[in-house]
Parts: sequence; structure tokens; C-alpha cells
Amino acid sequence: MAEQNKLEKIVALCKRRGFVFPGSEIYGGLASTYDYGPLGVELKNNIKRSWWKYFVQDRIDMTGIDGGIILSPKLWEASGHVANFKDPLVECKKCHHRFRPDKLKDTSKCPDCGGEFTEAKMFSGLFETTIGATEEGLVTYLRPETAGAIFANYKNVLDSTNLKIPFGIGQVGKAFRNEITTGNFIFRTLEFEQAEIEYFISPDSDWSSIFEKWLEYIYGFADLIGLPRKQFFNNEIPDKERAFYSKRTIDIEYQFPFGQDELWAIAYRTDYDLSRHQEASGTNLEYFDDTTGKRFIPHVIEPTFGIDRTFLAVLSEAYDDNDGERTVLRLSPRLAPFKVAIFPLLKNKPELVEKARSVYNELKKHFNVVWDDRGNIGKRYFSQDEIGTPYCVTVDFDTLGESDSDKKDTVTIRDRDTMKQERIAISDLKAFIQKSLE
Ligand SMILES: [Zn+2]
Repeated sequence: MAEQNKLEKIVALCKRRGFVFPGSEIYGGLASTYDYGPLGVELKNNIKRSWWKYFVQDRIDMTGIDGGIILSPKLWEASGHVANFKDPLVECKKCHHRFRPDKLKDTSKCPDCGGEFTEAKMFSGLFETTIGATEEGLVTYLRPETAGAIFANYKNVLDSTNLKIPFGIGQVGKAFRNEITTGNFIFRTLEFEQAEIEYFISPDSDWSSIFEKWLEYIYGFADLIGLPRKQFFNNEIPDKERAFYSKRTIDIEYQFPFGQDELWAIAYRTDYDLSRHQEASGTNLEYFDDTTGKRFIPHVIEPTFGIDRTFLAVLSEAYDDNDGERTVLRLSPRLAPFKVAIFPLLKNKPELVEKARSVYNELKKHFNVVWDDRGNIGKRYFSQDEIGTPYCVTVDFDTLGESDSDKKDTVTIRDRDTMKQERIAISDLKAFIQKSLE
């Protein structure tokens, strides 16, 4: 399958089955915005939950916060975003489309209409907003990254928990960037979700080995959500291109259908962030190490993840229509929007429907379950394969024990990937599905 063609097919599937819709579509759309539909919100939540469990809850040295989207503008001045979060832009004098000159192949004329460009002007990537109704309202910004609130709350977390260095704080949430370059579906959007970790270490620690351990731990997450390691590339950022305060940065790139691009990243940022916030806020952010009696500003290692990009990577990896007959999303059961679909063999037989309802109601207590009684069983399988439901359960006349009493209270369970069907007791269903989620 041609790769760009694959992206188009994924975009079409997302719209048709309710994973991702173009933003504000009934008003003609709004560029670089998308809405997650009924299945998209499930898949995205499952990605976020898996991330949170793996990176925050499973680790003794991690905790989490959920900071604000609107923070003091002083924080973004201290972090350098207000001064530096800017891109040069040129505007076409004819069609008024804007471009980043560094992303253009030919800077002499507009690629859309051939028109002449204006001089390049600096354009802030921050979304500005004003607090208060009066003209003298306080100007601040929608956060361009989630990390800010972690630094701002580092001291609160220390004081309210029994964590000691080394420890980390994780956060998942929305961030906003007034980006001019757009395209490739949900890869780059104005509003997006990030998962970030600030891992605080002593300046005396062996940062290089802690960095390596985090990098390997990050790849464990790729394994967990079904992204093959061979699709990744560690782009080691050379000295000259790194931020001056960072001693090592790796852009963790992924082979998307449209090409290789940044999915996640990890950086060793020294004590730059907390030093800047201490200086700008006037609040002492030193850590006191009660075993050595030393005081210091912690250094940080920062793993960062794009959730929407992860969503796109997961979908690209799972999408399979190679046999041309059926489309299957080979999602890990852990991420699948529905874990199991329940079908009554026929919808006009009340005794079948009633029995299937009881199976549905029981499993619903434990998993996200979907009911389907439309068309024939083959069509229902087709429909569930397309959205990645790992198992389909059919309640038939054997379930009722009408012809063979040995089969009473058993159902057919069909596996999405192998398409094999087996007969299992209703009482074993919960354990069977549970096992697939481990
Ligand atoms: Zn133009």
C-alpha cells in the first residue's frame, strides 16, 4: 500500500467510524483543528491511561499533577517562551497565505499562487488571552507546553509528599501553539495533548546513565502499546543545534505513513528551568538533601510525548487492509475502544436477545462492551474488525441449551486477528477477556 494512500485511508476510516472528525465541520471547518469522536475518545483515553499507569503509577519514584492551562504570564517570561517562542513568517502579497521561510523550498515566490512575499516578520507561537473584562485586563497565554506547571509546583509536591530526589512528576494535558505550518492530519494541530515528565536529580548524579535508563523505559512503553521498535529512530541532536542549557537531547522519531518525524523526545536540561523560575519568582527552589546536608537546585531529565501523535502512530501501525477484503485495526486489546462485542444470533428471537442482554450487562460491569444486532453475523464481524474490537461473542440457540444440554450457557467467541471461533462458557468470559488485557 502506498504510504500516503495509507494515510488517506486512515483519515477516511477515522471520519466514517467516529475516531476523528475535522474541527467545526458544519461551519466549513477550521484549519489544523480536529475533534475526537465516540471511538476516538476511547482510544485516546486508553493511550493516556496506559501512559499514566506505566510512567506514574507503576514507578515508586514518580507522582503526577494536573496543572492549569492558564498560568501566570510571569512563568512564560521566565521560561523564555514570551521572548523566544517565535518564528519568522512571510506573507504572500497576492493570496495572503503565510509561510515559514525556513520550511519553504523556494523563498522567492509563493508556492500557492506564485505571488511576491513580504519581508519576514517574527510571529509568536503563543496563544494570547486576556483575563478580566476591562481594557487593562491581564494578558497571559494558553500554555504552549505542560511542563511549566510542573516546575511551578515542584516545591508544593516536595512539601506534600514523602518523595526524595531522584523523583519525577508526570502530567498529561492540553497545550496550544499558534502554528502556521499545518497538515498531516492530527500530527500538528493548534491544540494538542502532551504527556510530560520532569525527573529531578542531584547535580552530582550520573545523569548519563539515568538518561539511558529513561530512554530504555520509554521504549518499554512502545512495546506496551504495540509500536514496533524497528519503526523508531533516535535522532541525537548535535551540540550546535541543542538549546544551550541542554547537555543531551534525543528526538525519538517514528516512521509515519507520511514520513519519519518526531513522536517523543528526551532531554537533559541541567538546572536551567528551576534556576530561571527561582530567579524570576524570588522563591527559593533549592532542595535540601538530609543525608549529605547539601543544598542544590535539582537538574532535570525531561521525557516528553505527543498524545495525538501517539494516537496516529498507533492507528497507522494497527491499520491493515492488505488482503483487500476486510479492514482490520490490529490494536492491542489494552487500547481497543471496545474489548468485546455481544451479538444475539437473531434479533427477532426474544429469548436470544434476552440471554445476550444478560451477557452484555454482566460484561459491561468490567469492560467497555458494545452491542450489535444489525444484519448478519458476517457483517457484524466486518464492522467490529474495522474498529479493532478484539473479540465478538455470539449468543445462539445452543446457548439456550435447546438441542444439546452440554452447550447450555456457552457462547461462540471469535478472535479478530486469527478469525478463529471457539465455544466457551459464559462464566469463563470475564477471565478470558481479562487475560488479553494483561
Ligand atoms: Zn500566494
